[in-house]
Amino acid sequence: MSSQWPSESGSDEGYGSTFSETTKQQIRALYRDRCAICLDHLPPGGGHFAHLIASSEEGEKTVQGGDFLGIIHPDYDRSSKDNGYPLCTNCHLGYFKPKLVTLSPPWPILKYILESLHQPGNSRSIYQICQSLIQSSRDHLSAPEDVKGLIPYLGLYSLVILRPEKVQECVIMTCKLPPLSILNNHQFVPALSDVDLSIPGVARIFDTSAITSTLPLSLGYIPLTDSLRNFVRDAIGAFRCRWKPC
Ligand SMILES: [Zn+2]
Repeated sequence: MSSQWPSESGSDEGYGSTFSETTKQQIRALYRDRCAICLDHLPPGGGHFAHLIASSEEGEKTVQGGDFLGIIHPDYDRSSKDNGYPLCTNCHLGYFKPKLVTLSPPWPILKYILESLHQPGNSRSIYQICQSLIQSSRDHLSAPEDVKGLIPYLGLYSLVILRPEKVQECVIMTCKLPPLSILNNHQFVPALSDVDLSIPGVARIFDTSAITSTLPLSLGYIPLTDSLRNFVRDAIGAFRCRWKPC
């Protein structure tokens, strides 16, 4: 599993992005020609290639700042496939480009990083802590106990609302609403349809690699405000992206 944390979900220049044609093809293949958020199929030539860290001067400052804070490797390549993900026009221009939403590592990961930083005598940077988590995910059995519970969350992201006042009554529609999953023995497994949504570890994982052409339509929506949510926060923001920090 490739594991990954964006320090921000940067915007891009749409069709004029800095990704080469080869890289664009790699990104599309990685996400199976689907929007990374709503999972809609993107026809050939359709959709946008968003940068997790922007390709502009703003992105350069992000990398420099991230390196200073120990969040990201200074040699991070913003034109590589690992810095890109496909979005449909609605998700990109409607929400990511105007910086109304962004992606963040899920809360259990953020909490672990915070606690690790505050451990007495800690000298590791955030980047090094993340790298050790990735290493642990490759060897589940020997992972420390406090890390085993985090492994299912690696590669997942929460959709964070940056400007709630701007997205009142907004929802992102999807034709492929994923079924519910639940944590069981350190992995996500299918949940019963009537699972109690207040149980910790219940998630609806939006994963392009789980979509097949024979999967039937399943209409649904991703609510962007609490007032429209009919399921708990944990069951919303689990988007599987494939970002590598270096
Ligand atoms: Zn979309």
